[in-house]
Amino acid sequence: MLGLMQDRPLLISSILEHAARNHPRSKIVSARPDGSLARHGWPEIAARAAQLAHALAKRGVQRGERIATLAWNDHRHLEAYYGISSMGAVLHTVNPRLFPGQIAFILEDAQDTHLMVDPTLWPVVEGLADKLPASLRAIIVMGEAAQLPAETRLRGRVEILAHEALIAGEPVRFDWPDLDERTASSLCYTSGTTGEPKGVLYSHRSTVIHGLSALQRDAFGFGALDVVMPVVPMFHVNAWGIPYSAAMAGSSLVLPGPKLDPASLHRLFEEEGVTFSAGVPTIWTALLQWLRADPARRFSKPPRLVVGGTALPTAINAGFLKEYGVRILHAWGMTETSPLGTANAPKVENADWDDDRFLDYARKQGRPLYGAEIRVRDAEGKEIPHDGVAFGELEIRGPWVASAYFNRKDDPAFTPDGWFRTGDVVTVDELGCIEIVDRAKDVIKSGGEWISSITLENLIMGHPKVQEAAVIPMHHPKWDERPLLLVVPKSGEAPTAEEILAFYEGKVAKWWIPDAVEFVESLPHTATGKLWKAELKARYRGRSAAAE
Ligand code: ADP
Repeated sequence: MLGLMQDRPLLISSILEHAARNHPRSKIVSARPDGSLARHGWPEIAARAAQLAHALAKRGVQRGERIATLAWNDHRHLEAYYGISSMGAVLHTVNPRLFPGQIAFILEDAQDTHLMVDPTLWPVVEGLADKLPASLRAIIVMGEAAQLPAETRLRGRVEILAHEALIAGEPVRFDWPDLDERTASSLCYTSGTTGEPKGVLYSHRSTVIHGLSALQRDAFGFGALDVVMPVVPMFHVNAWGIPYSAAMAGSSLVLPGPKLDPASLHRLFEEEGVTFSAGVPTIWTALLQWLRADPARRFSKPPRLVVGGTALPTAINAGFLKEYGVRILHAWGMTETSPLGTANAPKVENADWDDDRFLDYARKQGRPLYGAEIRVRDAEGKEIPHDGVAFGELEIRGPWVASAYFNRKDDPAFTPDGWFRTGDVVTVDELGCIEIVDRAKDVIKSGGEWISSITLENLIMGHPKVQEAAVIPMHHPKWDERPLLLVVPKSGEAPTAEEILAFYEGKVAKWWIPDAVEFVESLPHTATGKLWKAELKARYRGRSAAAE
């Protein structure tokens, strides 16, 4: 027997309509490149999203057609999020920090017909002039006509339009189609740290369910009175779904634009009363250092922060809590998982732990949110014991997890029984909490045993003279691989290899301690701000450890 409930489709248009109708006075603050602020409300965002949809429809944009964006976190990007998906087209967010060759590959693979670009990112497009796909009909510069490029190699090759001129005069309401909720809504490519970028094609249904789930109290958990600032870019996994969750909750949004330096962010926290923000560890590390540089720098009301993307160093978490009263939630996810999969909020079993004990525990990536099921299997395919020690590869399934990549058949990441293999190697403890010990391709295989490069990196980040660190394998004649530690010292510090290595004593097994330390000025990062291990491994390929 079927239930007798209404079967309204879960559509992105419904989120925007809800926010516009019920939360007209929540504010949408959008920082321009010069630091000045544009102010709107949800009704204006809805009106401008409708105008954009009308303009695109007039240009012949059909359902399912891909419209790319190269843009920062700002109100025009937000309008594109809603307008493009709601009309039934596919919003394709592109990371401007990728290499030109990768961007060209992505635009070609997606067969985008329109490219919306922020004026400050015009040089990226100019650099692609000879590589733009034949499918591209127009480039829309996200600004006024005066912001169109004066000189460009692209003139005559593709139509170049100004966003404001394009939407001017269009109706402010759009009769959004009643789409099948499984209709594709947006497309985001993985950053391609392990080969060609792969497209993840989200649906209206997956986006709505993910957005609701992210509002659980033990995840983002914000409400109508929150002022939410996604620092995580809108070109990366839909800014972790925050633009959708915020509209569902009726929250205010602060979109920080291209300037993500600590002073600019802190100004927004203070002047706009930001209560919740999300970003990668690099952002919060820089903010903490900036705060510490002057005792007058405080938060008048400590915000809640969420961090993910790479592991949260305990020293950063502790610094924020003890010195500034700021609580950080550590979460894990991937492009393929929309992204939220797990978050490390306390539960009955560890509710009474004191701050120090929990801060140490918060290095772990957390427990699954309702809707994300996980399993962890070893090399033989057996589920590992939940003892916090055994390792295996994390697999996940759920209504907001990818079932295939766009344009690719049969990727081995998808198991025959319906799970997605994450490539993350994790332990699971008695509380069901996962800890990433490595990516499958980065673990150091020493004499048949695994050493976690990430554990070694996190530990040494707690050394007072260390700014950043990476651990990569070097060849060893007897053990196959041994860890090599690369350290960027804090400015003005010149630690010795001995004092660095001594820091590991008593904290890890002796055979885990790196065989060598190299001091470097900086480490390479991928377009999403992660340590670029593949590049480091290539750089140090010839390096081998001495046999003992
Ligand atoms: P890419 O896989 O292309 O680097 P993603 O943003 O999808 O881009 O990255 C997902 C990966 O990032 C995860 O598989 C995991 O390795 C890493 N990651 C995400 N969150 C965390 C976290 N909290 N701690 C450690 N690693 C994380």
